[in-house]
Amino acid sequence: MISFSKLLLDQQNFGDSLRYNKDAKISTRGTTTDKGPIVVWNCTRTCNLNCRHCYAEAVNTYDSGELSTQEAMAFMDTLVSYKVPALLFSGGEPLMRRDVFDLFEYGNKIGLRMVISTNGTLIDKQKAEMIKKLGISYAGISLDGLKDVNDLFRGVSGAYVKAMEGFHNCREVAQKTGLRLTLNRANYKELPAIFDLIEKEKIQRVCFYHLVYSGRGSNITDEDLTHDETRKAIDFIIEKTLEFHSRGIETEILTVDNHCDGIYLYEYMKKQDKKRAEKILSLLTTNGGNRSGMAISSVDWEGNVYIDQFTRDISLGNIRNMSFADIWDGSGNLFLEMIRDRKKHLKGRCASCRWLNQCNGNFRARAQSTGDFWAADPACYLTDEEIGV
Ligand code: SF4
Repeated sequence: MISFSKLLLDQQNFGDSLRYNKDAKISTRGTTTDKGPIVVWNCTRTCNLNCRHCYAEAVNTYDSGELSTQEAMAFMDTLVSYKVPALLFSGGEPLMRRDVFDLFEYGNKIGLRMVISTNGTLIDKQKAEMIKKLGISYAGISLDGLKDVNDLFRGVSGAYVKAMEGFHNCREVAQKTGLRLTLNRANYKELPAIFDLIEKEKIQRVCFYHLVYSGRGSNITDEDLTHDETRKAIDFIIEKTLEFHSRGIETEILTVDNHCDGIYLYEYMKKQDKKRAEKILSLLTTNGGNRSGMAISSVDWEGNVYIDQFTRDISLGNIRNMSFADIWDGSGNLFLEMIRDRKKHLKGRCASCRWLNQCNGNFRARAQSTGDFWAADPACYLTDEEIGV
């Protein structure tokens, strides 16, 4: 994640203490040397929507292979012992999991920091109250555009209205929420209206995701922004971050899944404020770029462990057979060794890029979509001149 709020404005939020910690880039098994990774748990494959970009290839039926309540609670115990800073419940749609509120209650009892990534459409007043009461620190609600674009992209008419109700219900109980939006050719022109919505609805946090070509997302690569459109989108997000701040609107603004954004931000700021640009470069170097398999881990509904939520055809092991801690420690796992020391394995532009210490080769799941896991990330929109090749 690239925090535009932190890099441009020095705003400090929870994730920044992990992201820009001095230990970050030297920690191979966690966010910092004394903590485990952030764990994204796709706790169910079931979803009530049918999004075109779903990396988990969610379905509207129940998967009988899901971890049981007991298995899930034992897994959560392990995460506390392994000192994970946060467990992110994702899906499918996490609220479709039948025992999800029992799991929230359990996580709260054992002191696990929990966040959810949800489509928001099922958050009625009662569920909003329970989410708040059971200690969910943050609910990220996905919208992929305004009404028509969102509903087309998410595959269900009425999804936008329901998601907005979810936002409102959370706000009424003072539950911290944010908006998650995956940039694509359909919603890119709506960015000004999306920022109007953020302002009008007083949304506290917004994450703009880049498309990762994984799961159903691999079928819509032609709907991803061109490199030129990406640059324009990032220009706009920078300008709005600064403009919001100048008007006293302190929404936390981040982009996700493309580390080129940090370098682009640095180059942008170099032309305007050299001192700020050097600060940005120092923060990016402290962070070290993509940290899949190190600071980020993912577990699916059947207990398979991955380096991140997108790299799903290389399982590191299953928590039904081995503890999460043993899998993540990775003794004898050659793939984990390689991903944790990946610079020497990268190919193409990434191999000779001058920003390797700030980007770390970006997303391997997107490289894999080219047929070579170690190839350059095709979503790198920086020019040859900018990366020094
Ligand atoms: S060439 Fe690779 S390492 Fe360099 S900025 Fe682009 S994606 Fe990152």
